[in-house]
Amino acid sequence: MQCSKKATKAGRIVTGSKFLSFDKITSLLGRLVSFDTVSRNSNMQLIDFLRAYLADLGVASHLVPNEDGSKANLYATIGPNIPGGVVLSGHTDVVPIDNQDWTVPPFELTKKQDRYYGRGTCDMKGFVAIACAAVPAMLEKSLSKPIHLAFSYDEEIGCVGAPDMIKEIVSTLPPIDAVIVGEPTNMQVANMHKGILGARTHICGLEAHSSQTHRGVSANTYAARLITFIDDINREFMANPHDDLKLEPPHSTINVGLINGGIAANIIARDCDFTFDFRSVPHDNVDETLERIQTYAETLEAEMKQSFEGASINLDIRRVPGLNSTDNDRAAQLCMRLAGKNDTIGVPYGTEAGQFQQAGYSTVVCGPGSIDQAHKPDEYIEIEQLKLGAQFVDRLIDDLAD
Ligand SMILES: [Zn+2]
Repeated sequence: MQCSKKATKAGRIVTGSKFLSFDKITSLLGRLVSFDTVSRNSNMQLIDFLRAYLADLGVASHLVPNEDGSKANLYATIGPNIPGGVVLSGHTDVVPIDNQDWTVPPFELTKKQDRYYGRGTCDMKGFVAIACAAVPAMLEKSLSKPIHLAFSYDEEIGCVGAPDMIKEIVSTLPPIDAVIVGEPTNMQVANMHKGILGARTHICGLEAHSSQTHRGVSANTYAARLITFIDDINREFMANPHDDLKLEPPHSTINVGLINGGIAANIIARDCDFTFDFRSVPHDNVDETLERIQTYAETLEAEMKQSFEGASINLDIRRVPGLNSTDNDRAAQLCMRLAGKNDTIGVPYGTEAGQFQQAGYSTVVCGPGSIDQAHKPDEYIEIEQLKLGAQFVDRLIDDLAD
């Protein structure tokens, strides 16, 4: 154990991993990329593949399916089922490729120079492939503490899948020392990200001919007023940055990303839908901000109802908690040591890490690849990043080995 700690000092040149075969990682990555697990599709083929792969190695896995069984989370334990140990966590779904200009087949692994291309290579099937390729080594080294694998669905549409799995992990597994969510951080250790509150807003007014504005209630006009109110809050955030935050930008943000209202230029719009996405820093009280928006929405709704009793404004809210822990937390300490880093970072995107932390686990985000390549056409991961990821898991195995 002592030697492995010496070997994890910063600045070590990547010489490949002791236990993991790079070919195994890339062949698994190829399989994972070949499953079109865009969030709107089922992920069951991929899950069945991983389940069979683990079963072949003698590792039992547990499924936590969604309501209609079309998707599932999968978790498994390697090593003794005792307190301590680590969770390696990843999501199996990917973002769509629609209307993106790909020059390589998105659902095939393509190697070009020092990169592997394909949807999900970076976000985040690369990490899942490394974790799975490491299972034989985990078994061989006879771990003194367990390594749990936890793979979710529907992360990309608001971290919808993981909560049920996390609940089951909390209730069925012994206490766990650290959770590592392998989203792309270039193998830096991230212990802070914003919380996300996503809202779908539906405004229902009264349609009439466009010349009869005294007879109709325009959903579009009321949407515009509510959106302006929300944007004013965003301007308040921008005017008050928090210099102590390692996040860019160092303040909360609210953005209205989608608006869809009305059906014709000469009809007063009956319906208008819009979404807003609120990314909060720890300094800001999410509930207070939401209450400001809801109170204003109620004021507008009351005004609409004066003209038309059936008018309404409804907000459908979905939340993903932020991640906020200190450099002294177990997960941060462990990962800084394994990754050879002396400090931590904050990341601008949301992950399932906040959900694990909320469930009581010491959690960080640390994985191969750069978020700059995620969600884009010709998504890729550098071979160097895959190797660094493999080295990281190697060291973890060393660390937990008897
Ligand atoms: Zn991701």
